[in-house]
Amino acid sequence: MEWFEKVKTTVSKTAKLTKEKSGELYEITRLSFAINDLETKIDKLFKNIGMLAYRDFENGGEFSEDIDMLLRDIDAKYEEISGIKEQINQIKNVSLCPECGKTNPNDANFCLSCGKKLK
Ligand SMILES: [Zn+2]
Repeated sequence: MEWFEKVKTTVSKTAKLTKEKSGELYEITRLSFAINDLETKIDKLFKNIGMLAYRDFENGGEFSEDIDMLLRDIDAKYEEISGIKEQINQIKNVSLCPECGKTNPNDANFCLSCGKKLK
């Protein structure tokens, strides 16, 4: 019954792999939602900056510190997004080419897009 043991091992290996894959997929989906959420917040911040800038313009004065604060907030959120994208790339086992920014498998020696040496 050796063949049966082999089948059993293969089946359980496949099941484990599928489980890992669906876990990864769930994590990637969760992270993508977090990015969407941040992008929505950034859009709102841009809108608020526009309104504040108009208010300041109407008052004939210089741009207030409120605007500066919102700009910093946007900057922080962009940072957060790039951190999350980095996490997604780690899960997908890919990395970004420093030259062209395209994703490549982690074991690639050269960029699949521009041909730059990666290691
Ligand atoms: Zn490249």
